[in-house]
Amino acid sequence: AKDMGRNNLQFYERGMSSVAARRNLLEQRLRLAMEHGGLTLAYQPKVDVISGEVTGLEALLRWEDEELGTIRPEEIISIAEDTGLILPIGEWVLSSACRQMQDWHARGLPRLPIAVNVSAIQLNHKHFVTVVEEVLNETGLPPGYLEFELTETAIMHDPDNALRILNRLSRLGISLSIDDFGTGYSNLSQLKRFPISRLKVDRSFTAGVASDFQDAAIVKAMFMLAQSLNLEVVAEGVETDEQLEFIRNLKGNQYQGYLYSKPLGVADLENLLGLHAAA
Ligand code: C2E
Ligand code: CA
Ligand code: CA
Ligand code: CA
Repeated sequence: AKDMGRNNLQFYERGMSSVAARRNLLEQRLRLAMEHGGLTLAYQPKVDVISGEVTGLEALLRWEDEELGTIRPEEIISIAEDTGLILPIGEWVLSSACRQMQDWHARGLPRLPIAVNVSAIQLNHKHFVTVVEEVLNETGLPPGYLEFELTETAIMHDPDNALRILNRLSRLGISLSIDDFGTGYSNLSQLKRFPISRLKVDRSFTAGVASDFQDAAIVKAMFMLAQSLNLEVVAEGVETDEQLEFIRNLKGNQYQGYLYSKPLGVADLENLLGLHAAA
């Protein structure tokens, strides 16, 4: 098997397309970044639609390679999923985010829930719940302050297994959100058997609410359906006051978007939240 791997590598190196070549290079650089502390997290606030207060944060992966520059998270995640690197990277994201929240709390910040994105591969990995329990134990973060964001696609990949895992996570006290809601192929009647607390309406819908009659109608319907099932609704990608006003009128609970803040590094977020490092 080892010889075959070597032959394959040579084969690819000779006849490789530029896309494959880039992925190959990215994979090697990503491994290095992982081993040498090259990955970081940015944190984007979630804001209460009525009070305007920050109600939580979402952790988002960031990687700036010395040679390749900034790599988009979608590209990182795609390569990580194809190569299995998503497991160690996902674990790093989870433990870093939990540790950061504990650190901020220790330094006087009110405790905020932290949301972490979870890919289908992590969710379906047989040790996922154990890894999560270990991270919570090691960092000391109370599970009630941890949220997982999962796409419909991630859940529907193996719905029966997802249901078992999500029930276990939910029993630990972790709350669960559907990410990018509206872009997948599932619907609320399929999702309602899962222990979900909130829907995050994808920003492709938010983008049009103030200008596009159809987007507005779709978003209105999503909100009403979600609320009738007692799910919280979070609007993603709110960039304008008009969009926020629309969400407020629909009694959306929270929003995220550039209107309030882009995802920020640790120092910028501390400034935003008024936590200044002790002199
Ligand atoms: P997502 O989970 O839907 O995250 C929201 C994305 O929208 C983020 O992009 C954020 O920067 C961006 N965004 C937030 N507000 C606005 C806005 O007002 N306007 C616009 N145009 N964009 C906004 P980002 O950080 O590039 O992440 C992209 C995706 O990569 C994420 O989408 C998520 O699917 C994935 N991702 C990022 N970090 C992780 C991670 O640690 N694990 C996993 N599995 N996926 C991750
Ligand atoms: Ca997300
Ligand atoms: Ca999203
Ligand atoms: Ca997205």
